[in-house]
This record gives sequence, structure tokens and C-alpha cells, in this order.
Amino acid sequence: MNAPAPAATPMTDGLGRRIDYLRLSVTDRCDLRCRYCMAEDMTFLPKSAVLSIEEMAELAERFVARGIRRIRLTGGEPLVRRGIETLAKRLGALIGHGLDELTLTTNGMRLAEYAPMLAAVGVRRINVSLDTLDRAAFRHITRVGDLDVARGGIAAARAAGLAVKVNMVALAGFNEDQLLPMLDYCASVGADLTLIETMPLGEIAEDRSDHYIPLHHFVAPLREQRAIFPVDQRTGGPARYFAVEDSPVTLGLITPLSDNFCATCNRIRLTVEGRIYMCLGSDDHVDLRAALRDGGAGAVDGLIDRALAGKPRAHDFRIERESGPAVARHMSATGG
Ligand code: SAM
Ligand code: SF4
Repeated sequence: MNAPAPAATPMTDGLGRRIDYLRLSVTDRCDLRCRYCMAEDMTFLPKSAVLSIEEMAELAERFVARGIRRIRLTGGEPLVRRGIETLAKRLGALIGHGLDELTLTTNGMRLAEYAPMLAAVGVRRINVSLDTLDRAAFRHITRVGDLDVARGGIAAARAAGLAVKVNMVALAGFNEDQLLPMLDYCASVGADLTLIETMPLGEIAEDRSDHYIPLHHFVAPLREQRAIFPVDQRTGGPARYFAVEDSPVTLGLITPLSDNFCATCNRIRLTVEGRIYMCLGSDDHVDLRAALRDGGAGAVDGLIDRALAGKPRAHDFRIERESGPAVARHMSATGG
């Protein structure tokens, strides 16, 4: 391994927040079309606009040299990216050499094929998105997905020794009745569960305000049946964690709208085009691709510094009827 030596001093942004977590979007493409995430007829980026696997690896190594300790591969669907195995191997080799952890967020469709590879390169835990356990509802929300494949993917991940956290987007009028079954399902497969409020990112076919539900409303029926206690567990992300009476499952709540968490933001996001967006909810960005192609990985440092200095205090999401998306970019483009 000939990656640069890790940083002695951590990166901080202009507001003094320590930035040690990189979300790396490895593709904007996906084999599903979740209704809250994408339009049915999404236009994807042309190949020339997209970083090669080698370029992503070089940038990731540079970020680790600058003080990034954790990397999450995401997208789009990271497991549809050709060359993902090469990238995962290369980044896995950084674990213990500046990088503490390599993780992945996936829809699970290809986990049966890729889980053993992920475990072999040093991935220890992954997030798998699953919004319902009802077959017809799963097909509806993903437009094309097969629930049995998703569940098979989760089983394969557990069999490969990966810890799994299920990500469930809370959607009014869609999956409120699924929280208890999902909790029990997670218990049965040894997974944890994190709930996410739907965020106004990118144009979709529907008005998101129709399906937005604050998580304290979403979990209210569960609270009537079982006690929920806050637990002191931090994973460096925005979730707050809870123990649930009579359940081994740790429940995480991510509430970007109803309870803003930006004060503790520790992350930076690199898109598949090589852009760093200062925030999920902002269009401000710097473009590392041209600098990398012209001057190599060392040439991106000044741009990284500019991105850090420009990180905003907080996002400005609103989700009112017809208020439209906060930014035109879809979650799949920035990297969820
Ligand atoms: N394709 C992978 C997956 O679905 O897990 C990784 C990328 S996806 C964009 C990452 C996460 O973002 C998923 O858990 C998904 O449910 C969530 N997500 C997508 N669009 C969202 C939105 N508008 N609001 C909240 N969460 C969203
Ligand atoms: Fe694809 Fe993930 Fe978006 Fe669903 S949430 S369309 S699986 S990128």
C-alpha cells in the first residue's frame, strides 16, 4: 500500500466542527426507483462526468491523509457500480492506516453476491434500506423491487458476519403500520433499525409533504405498546438511539426536519462527479475533478480547505405543501 501517511491534525470546518467522516457516492445509478428518492425516468450522468474507480480511490486516500477516519460508500446504489470490488479492496487496505472504518449503504438487492467480498475487505457493518415488509407495498415504493431479494440480501450479509442496520424512511399513509413488524423482523435477523424523516431533495412525481411525518408521530403507536429509553450510543452520525422494552433492537431516529442535528455535523460528501457539496441541503460546492485530472491528488487540498471553510451552520429544509425541493439534486446524486 503506497497511500500517503495519515494526518497528524484533524480537519475542522469554519465553525470548528471536526470533520472525520466521508460519504463517497460511487454512482448516481440504481436498480430501484424509490418514489421518495427518484423520478421513474431519471436521467443519469454520462460516463465522462463520472470519476473512475482509480480517481475515487486517489481522492479517498487523499481525504484519509487529511484526517478522514471513516468512509461510507453510497450512491445511487453502490453495488451496481462496475469496479466496486476494486475500490472496496483499495479502501479496505487503509483500515488501520488512518482509516478506522469502511461502511456501505445499500438497497440489498445485490448483497447475496457481494456480502462475502465486503466482509473480506474489512467492512464490518452496513446499512440496508427497507421501508416495508409487505411484498406489494415494497414493489410499490421501489417501483421495481422484489422484497424477497432484499430479505435474502440481509440474510446473506448476516451470514457473512456483517452487522446490519435497517434504514426505514417514515412515510405517512404508507408504512406507519410497519414499525412493529419491522422491529420484530430486525430482532429475528439480529439487525438494528434506524428511522429517517423524508427530506425535500430533488423533483419527484409526488408532493413530499403528502408523506412527511415527524418521527415522534411515527413512533407514537410503538410507545403506547412498549417503553422506549434513550441510550448513550454515538456512531458519529446524526441518529439518536433508543432501547425498546422487550426487544434486542437498538432504534435510531434521524430527524433532519423535526429536530435539526447540524450542530454536530462531522461529515463531508463527495459526489460521483468529484464535487464536495458543503451540505446535503445546499447547492454550494467545489469541484475536485478538474483539479485532480490536471494536477493529481495533491492539487485538491486547497479546494478541500475551501469546502471546509464554506460549510454552513445548518441546512434549511422546509417541507410544506408545494414548497418544492430544497435543492434540485436528488439524494442519489449527492450520496445518501
Ligand atoms: N441505494 C442505497 C440505499 O437505498 O440504501 C444508498 C443510497 S440511498 C440515497 C441512501 C438512503 O437515503 C436510503 O436509506 C434511502 O432510503 C434514503 N433516502 C433517499 N431519498 C431520501 C429522501 N428524500 N429523504 C430521506 N431519505 C432518503
Ligand atoms: Fe435507489 Fe437507494 Fe434511491 Fe432507492 S433510495 S432509488 S435504492 S438510491
